[in-house]
Amino acid sequence: MTDARVLCPGSFDPITLGHMDIIVRARDLFGSVLVGVGRNNQKKYLFGEQRIELVREALADIDGVEVEEIDGLLVDFAAARGITTVVKGLRFGADFDFELQMAHMNRGLTGLETVLLPASADYLTLSSTILRQVMQLGGDFSRYVPANVERAFERLRERSA
Ligand code: ADP
Repeated sequence: MTDARVLCPGSFDPITLGHMDIIVRARDLFGSVLVGVGRNNQKKYLFGEQRIELVREALADIDGVEVEEIDGLLVDFAAARGITTVVKGLRFGADFDFELQMAHMNRGLTGLETVLLPASADYLTLSSTILRQVMQLGGDFSRYVPANVERAFERLRERSA
């Protein structure tokens, strides 16, 4: 059976306002969104097991958005739910090359389609990778993340102090 939801996947380490912008715009375009929080056991995450909880909290008041963990291949996760379309944000720089390759691979594997939305101007160059560096070096990152992520980072810092 087909599921009308579109899938917004990512690592969300941590979720940023750039992610949230794409998720809300995808919801407005397509009606409802399933956010897939990827788990890759080879990867070392700053927010670890907390990532999915932070995504859930940040999106709790937004209608038409659900959150699940993705374990394994994206196309299998989508196929198991009858989801036919992935929506990704396209930022300035290297996203295009990577997303084009991913989109072709996913379509080749199972026919899963990809829709690319241009990132909004405010978040055009924002990545979780750069954000984590700013966080760890003590920069003020508050304008890029929802309030719950800011609080979670404070707790992380207190624990490791
Ligand atoms: P990263 O930000 O390190 O690439 P993710 O893997 O969590 O982290 O990102 C998942 C997807 O979310 C990206 O492939 C991209 O499609 C989208 N995304 C992330 N940051 C932004 C942003 N600032 N603006 C628009 N889309 C974004």
